Amino acid sequence: MHLIKGLHVLDSPDGLAIGRMRIGKTWSDGSSGRFLEIVSPATGARIGAVPLATREDAARAVEAAVASKPFISKLSVWDRAKLCQAVADRIEARSEELATLLTLEQGKPFHAEAKGEIAGAVTAFRDAAEQIKWLETAAFPLADGNKRAFNFLQPKGVFAVITPWNFPASQPCIYYLAPGLATGNAMVWVTAPTTSLIASKLMECFAEAGVPDGIINLVTGEGHVVGDAVVTHPGVDAIAFTGSSETGAIIAARGAGKPLMLELGGNGPTLVLRDADVEMAAGRIATGCFANAGQICTATERVLVHDSVYDRFAEAMVKAAGQVRMGDPFDPATTMGPLNNEPTAAKMDEHLDDARARQAGIVFGGKRMAGMPTSLHYEPTVVTNLTAESKLNIHETFGPVAPLIRFRDDDEAWDIIGRSRFGLSAAVFTNTIKDAFRWAESLRVGIVNINEMSPFWETHIPAGGAAGTASGIGRTGGRHTLLEMSDLKTITIDISR
Ligand code: NAD
Repeated sequence: MHLIKGLHVLDSPDGLAIGRMRIGKTWSDGSSGRFLEIVSPATGARIGAVPLATREDAARAVEAAVASKPFISKLSVWDRAKLCQAVADRIEARSEELATLLTLEQGKPFHAEAKGEIAGAVTAFRDAAEQIKWLETAAFPLADGNKRAFNFLQPKGVFAVITPWNFPASQPCIYYLAPGLATGNAMVWVTAPTTSLIASKLMECFAEAGVPDGIINLVTGEGHVVGDAVVTHPGVDAIAFTGSSETGAIIAARGAGKPLMLELGGNGPTLVLRDADVEMAAGRIATGCFANAGQICTATERVLVHDSVYDRFAEAMVKAAGQVRMGDPFDPATTMGPLNNEPTAAKMDEHLDDARARQAGIVFGGKRMAGMPTSLHYEPTVVTNLTAESKLNIHETFGPVAPLIRFRDDDEAWDIIGRSRFGLSAAVFTNTIKDAFRWAESLRVGIVNINEMSPFWETHIPAGGAAGTASGIGRTGGRHTLLEMSDLKTITIDISR
């Protein structure tokens, strides 16, 4: 038994419930005979095992997807929409069970967060079903009166779908699986190792809903093994990846030449301007920092506060952090769970140590919480007087921290913002429309929320990384994802004979 990225490798399932892979019509334990043990970050209990798949298993999954292409290409848009609705129905029917597993495996509290995430997975399939039915394409007036031209959408073919552990149920469904099914693609899904049990349960829902074999396949194991095998397989036509910027760069290189959707890391700057409603801003920003224990790509990762309101704002943030409740993940009073895995908790330690070394003040929290079942429970943390060169300002932290940075004028704010290479989301709090738009139009990110926290998003509006940043390529959200996952085919016809 040894450790792979924080998970024990087992030579047998050791009596644990197995979250099986799905390859074509087969529920598979993989060919290695080895498994990854899943331990709950919330309770510390051993909750299951998933196959440690090989490159050969991944190749079989791609072959199953390729084999399903002729079948799925014959399904009409209405048939695909019906399948999406059937999947939504199955997830909805099993939502209590799915939310329970999500709480145990990912860590997020059942009432405050896990139930909402499962509802998000349901909505993903309902929205895709609706949107695909009304997605029109164009006919073109031409110079040549004997010709007509029009276009329509075709599936890209087989997608590699590779996803992270922070929203392991809703994110894969919203970003890729629902739009992928609606647009008629076949998919090989590689889920993050620490959240593979929930993926296997979702596969059961897809099968129960009647999604034909081979259209959605699931492979579990190490990303650099099975993910890489899928990305580089000649049967894979396109790649859809959500995860860290580092892995995204590897995938872009390994999958060179294939169409790419990359949703990567973020370090969303939030600005609190001199005329902001400080109390309102602190409440919303606290949610942006502490929701999902900060493990959101668009989380509020740094807050630039104008000098004139800094002290008042810091006080309000400490008050808001004091309202966060950690505890039994099934207690309705619990609002924040643990971090999902040790590398993420270690990054919090590292970034806070760096802040301390640079004389920042840790005015609330700042350490792992004592007396909890695992060491992954991190206190909601407020850091003041942070400097621009701090790791908290430059890098993605992905934990429950509100780093507050003081600025006096625009030049200073731009200098602080410019230290980070990310460009996913941002927020501006002000009561002056002119200032709101001045900032919103010039920040280099995919989405800016005015007087709302940086992670605010409804899943039909486009979001993604700004060009030239480390936050990705392409847009997800409603019809934009449907378009990204389709090829536009143009047909012309000569009607003179
Ligand atoms: P990660 O990059 O470590 O892993 C993501 C996925 O990639 C996992 O499924 C992993 O198994 C797989 N993988 C790892 N190495 C691979 C390789 N060489 N080839 C192919 N696949 C490989 O990221 P993570 O730690 O799971 O997730 C956290 C990151 O995801 C954060 O940076 C966060 O900002 C980002 N994220 C972004 C968005 C967005 O919409 N932009 C949404 C959620 C999370």
